[in-house]
Amino acid sequence: MLADLHTHSTFSDGSLSPNELIDLASDHWVSALAITDHDEAGAFLAVKEYADKKGIELIAGVELSIECPLSTGGHVHLVGLFIDAQNEALRIALYDLKTARHDRALKMIEKLTAVGLRLDADELCSAAGNGCIGRPHIALMLKQKGLVSSLGEAFKKYLGRDGPAYVPKKKLPFLQAAEIIHQAGGIAILAHPISLRFPTYESLGKEILRLKSLGLDGLEVYCPGSDGYFRDWLLQFANEQQLLVSGGSDFHGKAKPDIQLGRGYGDLFVPLEIVDGLKQSWRKRRETWDVGRDP
Ligand code: AMP
Ligand code: MN
Ligand code: MN
Ligand code: MN
Repeated sequence: MLADLHTHSTFSDGSLSPNELIDLASDHWVSALAITDHDEAGAFLAVKEYADKKGIELIAGVELSIECPLSTGGHVHLVGLFIDAQNEALRIALYDLKTARHDRALKMIEKLTAVGLRLDADELCSAAGNGCIGRPHIALMLKQKGLVSSLGEAFKKYLGRDGPAYVPKKKLPFLQAAEIIHQAGGIAILAHPISLRFPTYESLGKEILRLKSLGLDGLEVYCPGSDGYFRDWLLQFANEQQLLVSGGSDFHGKAKPDIQLGRGYGDLFVPLEIVDGLKQSWRKRRETWDVGRDP
């Protein structure tokens, strides 16, 4: 059996509903699953009962984007695991991010109109449903209307950082994001460390230690797109620096069709034992934090 501690549902830019994600986990031998939607933690509450019924251990999560002018041009995402999805401070912060995403989507529609591509704002919002609107929703709508032939083309021509319809999204400073996760009783994990784009292990290690001093608890050691050498380095670094070890596929369904749940590009294997390690550490902290609930 496998673990997958980084996945997206229709509560953000994934194409499967939380229920469908649980069914897929069951079919793919994934017995411990974290749903880590962008800026949104609602999927856990929506599907916890169903996950229990199907015998899947569901972990409440969220993925936050960090405001960081990295000289490498890379980006930092922070995954919160074992969070209390109903925590007041978390809910306020996520509501704020979700509202900002809605306003950003309207601005992107205006920019698309300026280059001759018309999308209806109401249609976009209803396509996103309860979820957090992101560029993949816009890309999908452009494709459905025949205005681009693929999601990749939508990003390349219009929605990517250098595209005419790009609007930056609201992000949080690292310290604040880690604090929000901790306030909600969770642990803060650096998502897909490869995306920081540091050219050497040494420079990446330095940055990870800086983030640790700001509240980082652990690393996604197991994630798609990293070769065995990088994974082994991350594992050793995490062990040496007392950082927790996590991992997941970053599954999005149709929005990233090459990535399979629990399997990434086919060669990912997230050992189930890491979930026990994370839970043990989470329990120890719970004693210190006195958040008074079970993982
Ligand atoms: P946003 O959070 O709205 O800025 O959108 C970022 C999301 O878009 C990422 O989490 C990916 O899921 C998706 N994405 C980014 N670049 C691409 C791309 N080139 N093709 C398809 N999806 C992408
Ligand atoms: Mn995404
Ligand atoms: Mn990410
Ligand atoms: Mn993700």
